[in-house]
Amino acid sequence: MQLVNPATEEPIAELEQAGVEETDVAVARAKAAFPAWRAVTPADRARLLRRLATLVEENGEELARIETRNVGKPISDSRGEVAMVADVFHFYAGAVDKHHGETIPVAGGVDMTFREPLGVVGLIVPWNFPLNISSWKLGPALASCNTVVLKPAELTPLSAVRLGELALEAGIPEGVVNVVVGKGSIVGQRLVEHPDVAKIGFTGSTEVGRSVMEGAAATIKRVTLELGGKSANVIFADADLEAAAAAAPYAVFGNAGQDCCARSRILVERSAYDRFLELLVEATRGVKVGDPEAESTEMGPLISAEQREKVASFVDGEPLFRGDAPDGRGFWFPCTLVEASNDDRVAREEVFGPVAAVIPFADEDDAIRLANATPYGLSGSIWTENGARALRVARAIDAGVLSLNANTSVRVQTPFGGFKQSGFGRELGMHALAGYSEIKNVFVAT
Ligand code: NDP
Repeated sequence: MQLVNPATEEPIAELEQAGVEETDVAVARAKAAFPAWRAVTPADRARLLRRLATLVEENGEELARIETRNVGKPISDSRGEVAMVADVFHFYAGAVDKHHGETIPVAGGVDMTFREPLGVVGLIVPWNFPLNISSWKLGPALASCNTVVLKPAELTPLSAVRLGELALEAGIPEGVVNVVVGKGSIVGQRLVEHPDVAKIGFTGSTEVGRSVMEGAAATIKRVTLELGGKSANVIFADADLEAAAAAAPYAVFGNAGQDCCARSRILVERSAYDRFLELLVEATRGVKVGDPEAESTEMGPLISAEQREKVASFVDGEPLFRGDAPDGRGFWFPCTLVEASNDDRVAREEVFGPVAAVIPFADEDDAIRLANATPYGLSGSIWTENGARALRVARAIDAGVLSLNANTSVRVQTPFGGFKQSGFGRELGMHALAGYSEIKNVFVAT
């Protein structure tokens, strides 16, 4: 398959696509590598993960360039993401010997628990944050002694392939990390069905997540799903409106809107609506869209022509604001603000592009009602200077990751994942380890 740079449509690489047979070979290699990997001492396993983290740092600029050319994301974003990948491996190196069992008081003896690895795990990753999301799954999977078959998205496999090489260079034994490049409907599907794969860690669309869950049922595979979102950015009239408006564009146009945490519904209290809109339009005008390799660029193109077509279908009529984007080759789409009601398609479905719906609300109850009026529940923000209200609303919104007076969702140390149809299971932090281990309970009669 030929890969293209989304900013230029120029070919950048040609990769062989694996089929079912190659997938089975990778699973067999991972299965064969499991007993020896499991026997590596905790200190040595931590050392190997730390070495991988260091290699990611040492090869950081190369990895960032690969990601920018393959995904079209601004180079400054790619550098930040690569830095996070190193931090993720450093964190899970430290977690190896801190994820332990308990002793539980019982009658007639001693009861203790162990955290056992699952065996071979299949990791299926999307194209929007290829390297980051790979590391969020690889880190806890390896720290918990599993071996891995990683399937990157068909459109963006280059950084995962390089990461697989770095894992070997770090000294992680052959067969522990296997990267298989191929189609989701073939390689992904096979991993879901394979009897020797114990768990699927999946990030992607809710639609494919549903089919992964269905397919996993046949072998009672463990599944964690990180799916779509339609997150609300709730702006109360008592917020620091200037700060909220300055931050709002980056919360939805970052990664060209191709972000499951995109705050693509901007809910604004009616009494501050006009003033906020003025500030928001001004801030959106300031987003620097263009060549992803340029140091100052803040937003690049979309991933593909198909994605651009899908995104365009959400904008009918004249929007409230449409920014500039380069002409000519590349899958460009401008930052776009539309006024909407929560029932409009643009406010109901995940756009996965730089289109934000601005929606007024009457009061706190109305804000909570609108924020929750979606089948998704991944992320969101609340902007208010009233601390009690901030916590009250945060508790009332059905989403897995919220921020108050900020727009960030992802931190290495903290749990990340969704409510409702945004999926289940948690990535990152110590919480992710639960998804890559089983609890074994052993009773000793005394
Ligand atoms: P998909 O859900 O199709 O892709 C995610 C991953 O799943 C890819 O590696 C894909 O492989 C793989 N996959 C596809 N079909 C199967 C299958 N039957 N069994 C197992 N794995 C499979 O997302 P898309 O790339 O098609 O994007 C479509 C929409 O999904 C976006 O517009 C967005 O709305 C949403 N999305 C959400 C993401 C999130 O972070 N929550 C990430 C990506 C997309 P391959 O790509 O090689 O076919």
